[in-house]
Amino acid sequence: MAEITLRFYAELNDFLAPALRQTAFVHTCSRRTTVKDMIESFGVPHTEVDLILVNGESVGFSCIVNDGDHVSVYPVFEGMDISPVIRLRPVPLRTTRFVVDVNLGRLARYLRLLGFDCRYDNRFSDTEVAGISVAESRTVLTRDRALLQQKIITHGYFVRAVQPLEQVREVLARMDLYSQIRPFTRCTRCNGVLTRVDKQAITAELLPRTRKYYDEFQRCIRCGQIYWRGSHFRRAGRLLDEFGCRDRGAGKA
Ligand SMILES: [Zn+2]
Repeated sequence: MAEITLRFYAELNDFLAPALRQTAFVHTCSRRTTVKDMIESFGVPHTEVDLILVNGESVGFSCIVNDGDHVSVYPVFEGMDISPVIRLRPVPLRTTRFVVDVNLGRLARYLRLLGFDCRYDNRFSDTEVAGISVAESRTVLTRDRALLQQKIITHGYFVRAVQPLEQVREVLARMDLYSQIRPFTRCTRCNGVLTRVDKQAITAELLPRTRKYYDEFQRCIRCGQIYWRGSHFRRAGRLLDEFGCRDRGAGKA
């Protein structure tokens, strides 16, 4: 039997029962346990944790906790240098790529619209999402804590917001992605890359009105979907206004 004093910091409190938030509390462990298992027993996915101090010393996930230990658990620090201590996660993935959990389809489409590479399929199982994350170095976006507790996932983010537009705003802000927004570079339907295409080359595929009024076109290299500066762009422009990134190239296509 070990009594551990625990405190979770900043947004990690989002995962805790209200009585345990923003305060130190005593937790009784009935058996020998790692600090990772203890933290996850409170519903906090390990992918959200970047620093653990046990009695003031930084430790790894496999550290065994002992009676009388004081454990402080910190989230991923954005823009704060904690390099002298053990960072629990590997360095951030250099290219921002996502695999999006099955229940976040609209988030995936919005992120693609902003140019982010998002694997998404509403038939993916948890195991497939985890496997794709590891194999393709993609950050998992999900609202399922159990998924993020899978050990093989090193980069994952639990999306707090429920509304899709709020979710986009949250992901952009939390991961500081505003500078990486490239609107109209990716197919919202299949995640393929868009390339400019000559009107001549696709003229037979266009409806008469589209052929008459539009001159600039793009085509998805994967599924062949054609995009033009019509209603799609106007709708997208409004979305970009929503995300506060209208001035970052919307409409340039
Ligand atoms: Zn496509």
